[in-house]
Amino acid sequence: MTAAKLRRHVAVVGGGPAGLMAAEVLAEGGASVTVYDRMPSVGRKFLMAGRGGLNLTHSEPLEPFLARYGEAAGRLAPLIEALPPSALIAWAEGLTQETFVGSSGRVFPKTLKASPLLRAWLARLRELGVELRPRHDWLGWDAKGTLRFRTTEGETAVSPDATVLALGGASWPKLGSTGDWADVLEKSGVAVSPLKPANAGFDVAWSDLVRDRFAGQPLKGVALTFGRVRVRGEAMVTRHGLEGGAVYALSAALRDAIAAQGSAKLWIDLRPDARAEELAAKLAQQPAHQSLTNRLRKALHMTPLETNLLREAHGKDLPSDPAALAQAIKGAPLTLTGMRPIERAISTAGGVAFGSVDENLMLTVRPGVFVAGEMLDWEAPTGGYLLQASFATGAAAAKGVLRRLETGVVQ
Ligand SMILES: Cc1cc2nc3c(=O)[nH]c(=O)nc-3n(C[C@H](O)[C@H](O)[C@H](O)COP(=O)(O)OP(=O)(O)OC[C@H]3O[C@@H](n4cnc5c(N)ncnc54)[C@H](O)[C@@H]3O)c2cc1C
Repeated sequence: MTAAKLRRHVAVVGGGPAGLMAAEVLAEGGASVTVYDRMPSVGRKFLMAGRGGLNLTHSEPLEPFLARYGEAAGRLAPLIEALPPSALIAWAEGLTQETFVGSSGRVFPKTLKASPLLRAWLARLRELGVELRPRHDWLGWDAKGTLRFRTTEGETAVSPDATVLALGGASWPKLGSTGDWADVLEKSGVAVSPLKPANAGFDVAWSDLVRDRFAGQPLKGVALTFGRVRVRGEAMVTRHGLEGGAVYALSAALRDAIAAQGSAKLWIDLRPDARAEELAAKLAQQPAHQSLTNRLRKALHMTPLETNLLREAHGKDLPSDPAALAQAIKGAPLTLTGMRPIERAISTAGGVAFGSVDENLMLTVRPGVFVAGEMLDWEAPTGGYLLQASFATGAAAAKGVLRRLETGVVQ
């Protein structure tokens, strides 16, 4: 007997990418689906991701793609293989959003926006009969296992045949995901790894000069090294320190090092395409009477930000010897003293431990309740990996629900 014939009711709590994908797969499988969200409308973080162009996924081969999920790669692999980047691209294009591959291999919709995609998606969900219940704040379960929601009209209870929780992480809480589910689940006996910022900026004790004059300016085409990992890309100087794609790529390792040792040393190579000898040769061609700033500008097109960053890293008196100066440019150490708070992070590390869910993402201590999206304990750099895993786990949880309902088991 299929879920369609039984017309089982499934509650999806959380209307982000993971919850909405779960709703689509469930409704296509014949379930009667209601999506509850505490916000006045769904998909707010998804829309926010659209402000940066909506990096949906990445075009690299699946093996390096999966490796981006670090320790969680083993658990996520079968779920992402079931909804791989190619399928996600086809899905977006099915919703009239043509995609393209950017120069870094990242995949975006041609509109570089989330709103047309979300609009088309919600129309499809409506056609499938999915009901949306905004302003429903999930509070947990009562003693009988009924879902409790706070609404504008007071508290209400729902007893579905199965539940998908897709409540997101704890970054950008004003968009709806606050991570307050962690307490509720822990009290139910679910193991939850502490929620931590991922893909966030770091604190640097800048001088007043750098903070006041250069905050908001990018360092383009640099290479950042932490430990043995070197990343090419862009970083942005902020009033607090540094942020940006290349920083985020190292952020998990930097975060853990700061937690263990109190600070972390990040090395910046300001001219990663040139060897130190080449830089030294160009510097040596400049007349010795010129100021150091002028030599750097004329020989190597160093911007005022880059020159001041060298002083910040190596001290005010930079070496005038070309070879030593070239070495300073190839490796400028910055001490990172902290990570920006989770409220300002792009994503969240930690969450429901994979040991607490079965291969269908069902909570072992609460049969019939499935978990999807960023609230699971995985993290990944920016590059489309966050949305890809959110969509894939949403679809996987929904398939798990359908399999369970088809065997006749209800919550
Ligand atoms: C600024 C920014 C830019 C980003 N850009 C990208 C990008 O380009 N590419 C990429 O891959 N990723 C990006 N991300 C990350 C990506 O948006 C998230 O990983 C993704 O939205 C997670 O999906 P989710 O469905 O798990 O959670 P969410 O999108 O957070 O959705 C969870 C939903 O649950 C609801 N909810 C939470 N608690 C409750 C409750 N108790 N009761 C009822 N409802 C509740 C929330 O209101 C929310 O609607 C970006 C994130 C940010 C902040």
